[in-house]
This record gives sequence, C-alpha cells and structure tokens, in this order.
Amino acid sequence: MNLQSKLAILADAAKYDASCASSGAAPRDSVGGRGMGSTEGMGICHSYAPDGRCISLLKILLTNFCQYDCLYCVNRVTSNVPRARFTVDEVVQLTLDFYRRNCIEGLFLSSGIIQSPDYTMEQVVEVARVLREEHDFRGYIHLKTIPDASPELMQRAGRYADRLSINIELPTAESLTALAPEKNSAAIDRSMARMAVHIGESRAARKEQAAQAIVSMPQSRTTRRASAPLFAPGGQSTQMIVGADATDDRTILATSARLYGVHRLRRVYYSAFSPIPDAARALPLAAPPTVREHRLYQADWLMRFYGFTHDEIVPPSQGNQVGMLALDVDPKLAWALAHRERFPVNLNTAPRELLLRVPGFGVQTVDRLLAARRVRRLRHADLARLHVPLKKVLPFVEAADYRPGRALEAADLAAQLAPPPLQRSLF
Ligand code: SF4
Repeated sequence: MNLQSKLAILADAAKYDASCASSGAAPRDSVGGRGMGSTEGMGICHSYAPDGRCISLLKILLTNFCQYDCLYCVNRVTSNVPRARFTVDEVVQLTLDFYRRNCIEGLFLSSGIIQSPDYTMEQVVEVARVLREEHDFRGYIHLKTIPDASPELMQRAGRYADRLSINIELPTAESLTALAPEKNSAAIDRSMARMAVHIGESRAARKEQAAQAIVSMPQSRTTRRASAPLFAPGGQSTQMIVGADATDDRTILATSARLYGVHRLRRVYYSAFSPIPDAARALPLAAPPTVREHRLYQADWLMRFYGFTHDEIVPPSQGNQVGMLALDVDPKLAWALAHRERFPVNLNTAPRELLLRVPGFGVQTVDRLLAARRVRRLRHADLARLHVPLKKVLPFVEAADYRPGRALEAADLAAQLAPPPLQRSLF
C-alpha cells in the first residue's frame, strides 16, 4: 500500500478523536474542478498550544489495526474497515515534510493497540523520540497514551510530548465495562494520577530553578533559563463520548469535575457519539443532538472559569429533564432564570464572583467593569460600550442610572431570552 493510501485511511480513522477537532462547517468540496479546497478531508486539525496560539496539527493514527473490541469504535477488531499501518519512519518523514511545506506546526499521534499496550506505546514514543532527538524537531507534539502501558513508557512519552492524553472514553466505570470490556477505568485513573504527579514535579522543579537563577544573579539582564527536564508542559487532557450510553449530563459533569480536581486535567473534550457502520445492538441508532455536546462545553467552561460547581449547573432534577442540561438556553442563563432571587446584580458594588454569574458577561467583560468602576460609577451607557448582549444582560443588572424594574418577574422571560429557533437545512 502506498503512503498516500495509508495517509487517507489513518487520517480518516483519527477524525473520531475530538481532542483537537474543529467542527460545525457545512460540507463542501472542489471535486470536478469547481473551486478549490474542501471541508471534508481529514488529516490536519487545529489545536491550541500552551501559550494560547491556534496551531495546525497533522492528526493521524500510527495504525487502525486494533486487538480491542470497544463497541463504539470504528477501529475495533470486529469492524469491517480498510486497515493500514505506518512505520515509525513514515510518520517522522510525513511530519517533517508537512512541516517544511508550512502545512502544519505539529503532530497529533494516536494508535490502535497492536501486539500489546507496551509494544504500541513504544512505537508511539519512538516517533516522538526520533523527531526530537534525531531531527531536533521543535514543533508541537500531542501523544495519545495507552493506560495499560508501563509507567516507564509514559514517563518517556512525557519527555518528548507537549501534551499527553488518555481517553477516559465513557463517563462511568459501568459504561466502560459494558461497551469497552478490555478497558479498565482503574488503570485509566492510575495512569492519569501518575501523569499528574510527573507534570506537577516538572513544573515545581522548573519554578524553583528559575527562582534560584534570579536570586543568584540579581544584576543579570539575561537570566539563564531553567533547565529542569520538561514533562508534558501542555498538561494532560482526555475525551469522553457523549450519548453512546444513557449517562445523564449531571453525571458527565461530575466526572469532569473529579478529573479537573483530582488529576488537574487541562481539558476534558466531549465527543457526541456518531453511529458507526455495523454497530453493536447496545449502541443507540442515532447520534445525540450536537447542541448537547455544545451545552456540555459551555457548562465545562462555567466550572473552570466562572466558579460554578457541577451541582449548581445541573441540579438533581430540573423540570421534567432530570439530570440534563437545557438545550434551548445556555447553562448560565438557565441557572440565572432558576435563581432570579439572586438578581439584579449591582454593577457598582457586586463582587467579581457575582458579576461572573450575569448571563451575557464573559470573564474579560467582568474584568473591564471592575477596572472601570475603580474610577467612576458605571452607567447603562457603559454596557453598550462594552458590546455586551444588552437584551440578555439588562434584566439581571442595575447601574447608577438603570434599574430592570419588574423584568425579572416576567413569566415568559425564558422565552424572551432564548435564541430564535433555526430552520434546519433540508438538503
Ligand atoms: S482501543 Fe482504541 S482504537 Fe482500539 S477499539 Fe478501543 S477505542 Fe478503538
């Protein structure tokens, strides 16, 4: 099989991993010589570097052969799909070639499991080692790791990669046992814990070394950079499949909260289950609505940057949608509508944590309001100047010259603020 055919198979097989996916574009292509470009091809995706830059990555599997039989996965051993396998050198050469042509700034490498978790992990780590040590590759590397691989291999992976990830796959241990019988949630947890320790130790050592350098050379303008060994400086992330089992959003967010708290994960990615060919009977026939995935990302954002707990975002029962996020309004607005007694929030006196709970206010807006109110009293016109969505914000705030009156008491407030329904395209 030639390299191009392998690339077509192994880039397509990697598209199900959402850790660095971009989605939402309408399908377009230039087949037949009309126009140029395509939104359908796989292989290059966007991700965010540790410093916040958006970068393009070559996103491929080392192989889509796999000895495991995870029911939700198109690459499982019982799946009838074309198979391919790259050699280590082929992945290295592809990465370097694409990099030299300025098509990518890094590599996202995952793999099906062949022979054993250790053998597969060794191959994945070898790609990163050859790139870093033999070609002095300075681009971004994201390696998907295998939880059952040995701790030594994980440690080596962390030395070469900017980011490591282990997929938790499903929100509960019971679902994992039912849909991915060869996987073990305790092993996934153990590997995440080990990675968290290595990442923490590496950061602490580099911080200490940097502090020592400054203390020992107070006059130096060119302080030497800390040289303690790096370990996955971009942290670790994971992916959870949503809608392949019956787990509710409350449980999904509780799992994410635990991963952020206990293993200090950088990101949890939510991937709406997509039906696969020849799927097992245990799987749903249809994908969950993509808006559910979107609401989970919004809720995740609220937990990480807005001070919400998962319990607040999805209370045990909310109308007849027990344990689920509302789909018609975003989770912050849903919370505000359910807690109207906490509003209106006074823009001139409220603490930061309360301002962050106002629907329509982002972190940056809140910081700008706090800076502005140090020098003057905030008025209605200040909100317009900040370009906040006034219709959404005004019922929940008061300013020096503005009161929302009885807007908060309106029985149809939710309907007034919900975005208008969109007519879906028929074709
Ligand atoms: S181990 Fe990974 S590649 Fe293999 S079947 Fe499971 S999810 Fe798919």
